[in-house]
Amino acid sequence: MLDVSHVTKKYGKVLACNDVSFHLDPGSVTVLLGPNGAGKSTIMKSIIGFLKYDGAITVAGYTNKSTDARKVLGYIPEMPALYPNLTVSEHLDFLARAYRMSDYKDKANALLDRFELSDKKKKFGDELSKGMQQKLNLCLGLLPDPKVLLLDEPMIGLDPHAIKQLKDLIEQMRADGKTLLVSTHIIDSVDMLWDRALIMQSGQIKANITRAELEATGKTLEELFFEVTEGVNQEDMQHHETESGKE
Ligand code: ADP
Repeated sequence: MLDVSHVTKKYGKVLACNDVSFHLDPGSVTVLLGPNGAGKSTIMKSIIGFLKYDGAITVAGYTNKSTDARKVLGYIPEMPALYPNLTVSEHLDFLARAYRMSDYKDKANALLDRFELSDKKKKFGDELSKGMQQKLNLCLGLLPDPKVLLLDEPMIGLDPHAIKQLKDLIEQMRADGKTLLVSTHIIDSVDMLWDRALIMQSGQIKANITRAELEATGKTLEELFFEVTEGVNQEDMQHHETESGKE
């Protein structure tokens, strides 16, 4: 459903993505993990078509910058880009018009309810708290019901209620056959959610593993993460724990 093939992106001399390739199936949630600066946002922005890069990306068989790909591809950025002079309702109306959606009001209201924004419909973008902006950002990304959805650090800034609602929605979308790619640097925030994990560091994919493959190794995702990004293996960790136990 989503194919990333040999993508390389440089910002001047900075090699942000170095020959990145992966394939994601429908009905799956993939987490993209990596320390700050690993290249996660760069690969997400490349997929969504915001950046120029070398390599090829297809969505549902269409090249990612085509109109057909754009119809099925959604992106929820880390930083909400809201209009200060539009109300919450007007943001949703505006988006629905852009996507030529006619029958969207019930869905929009259900999303606002879910994220506890129903009583904020008449508030302007610049009257919303940071968390409310984050929630409206999610509603806007979810309203068109994309087949392939990229979420960049989606849990940051959300309260526990909204995190729970978002996790439920992600599971529902997976059950509906959608393809989800969730980038984060906070492993705990996605631990129960993923089917495949990609671990990125210094612009490269250092691990690409399914939940079943990881379970077969007996490692946790966190252990694999540190092994891959810091070269720490389990014996080192045990040693480290014993050493710190002595202190
Ligand atoms: P992540 O999302 O994993 O934190 P990014 O994709 O934002 O990583 O960044 C990858 C690398 O590219 C970093 O070294 C970062 O400093 C650099 N970078 C990101 N955006 C730009 C930009 N617009 N101009 C120059 N360098 C950038």
